[in-house]
Amino acid sequence: MDRTDAFIKDVERYSAKNYCPLPVVIERGEGVWVHDLEGKKYLDMLSAYSALNQGHRHPKIVDALLRQAGKITLTSRAFHNETMGSFLKKLCQITGYEQALPMNTGAEAVETAIKAARKWGLLKKGVPEKQSEIIVFDNNFHGRTVTIISFSTEDQYRYGFGPFTPGFVSVPFGQIEALEKAITKNTVAILAEPIQGEGGVLTPPEGYLARMRELATRHNVLMMLDEIQTGLGRTGKLFAYQYEDARPDVLILGKALGGGVYPVSAVLAASAVMDVFGPGDHGSTFGGNPLGSAVAEAALEVLEEERLVENAFELGAYFRAGLEKIRSPYVQEIRGKGLLLGVEIKKEYGKARIFCERLMDEGLLCKETHDYTIRFAPPLVITKEEVDWALERIAKVLAEKQ
Ligand SMILES: *Cc1c(COP(=O)(O)O)cnc(C)c1O
Repeated sequence: MDRTDAFIKDVERYSAKNYCPLPVVIERGEGVWVHDLEGKKYLDMLSAYSALNQGHRHPKIVDALLRQAGKITLTSRAFHNETMGSFLKKLCQITGYEQALPMNTGAEAVETAIKAARKWGLLKKGVPEKQSEIIVFDNNFHGRTVTIISFSTEDQYRYGFGPFTPGFVSVPFGQIEALEKAITKNTVAILAEPIQGEGGVLTPPEGYLARMRELATRHNVLMMLDEIQTGLGRTGKLFAYQYEDARPDVLILGKALGGGVYPVSAVLAASAVMDVFGPGDHGSTFGGNPLGSAVAEAALEVLEEERLVENAFELGAYFRAGLEKIRSPYVQEIRGKGLLLGVEIKKEYGKARIFCERLMDEGLLCKETHDYTIRFAPPLVITKEEVDWALERIAKVLAEKQ
């Protein structure tokens, strides 16, 4: 344990304390597996919050990184580079949107979508300047910038960080009447996650997203979906909105777009929305850089070539059925779609963290979300045998006395 202890001591001494990680130090990884400094092997059930859909160090994605690193890594958008156009063409082709705006992190892409919606409101809908409203949902998670936490309903995310950005209205997730009531003549957009991942893997009632789509169309409001966590195969469809044919006007992607290798995010929309941005209106030094673009294009190709969406659909159903079979006194409810599954622990048995620590001992790396829910979200390259391996250990932990 010497190296592990020494490493954790350094982190405790020198790192800001904005995380509380499990006491494991990961040294290397491949596919769904990671190894710690002591040589112990774990199945990664978090996938860096769904940024590792293609698995750790996917050879094709790493190869794209290395090849591009041997040519050019950064140009800035002041000049063209050879890879951005082909990445964005691929992204638009597989999503069916006309145009994309590349950024780096998820929060930046959400900020970009908010700016697009506000300016669209001014220029295309005629909402007076500084009067626009965007409707969001209780328990939302869209990132950590000041504007984004301004509409968080989580006290901890906001406490001490004000003053906040105005212009947001939050309504209960899953209640269509509350949403309709919140729409005013100044509403420019509805911003939602199709499944609230950080909120505790909360899935709305069936038909909700389709009705949101209808409302948005009827009231001339942009429907914007944040699929940073749910997108790119995670829920068993390429995008979670496809379960209901609730195609948004603005689609926000991140996480797995970078193939677990490099931060790449993007906003997708019709050109009638995207054309609110002119040169100089918005940008990012690293957005669309050659290295990230090469990686992201390879990440998209891997999704297609290895049929990861189909695998997530099939093995997600298999995993869920396996979880449902476990006779556990602790489980309140199992939620989610595809390979984004949440197991909620009954409050009287304490927080999910205790179960995550036990699962770690058994060789499964999981993270609790919202105190009482264990999220199971392995890389989409997982096999049936590996799901069985996981289920055996989960059954052991959920059946034993804590
Ligand atoms: C992770 C996440 C974000 C923020 O992405 P970052 O890359 O951490 O900024 C935004 N929205 C959702 C739904 C997420 O899961």
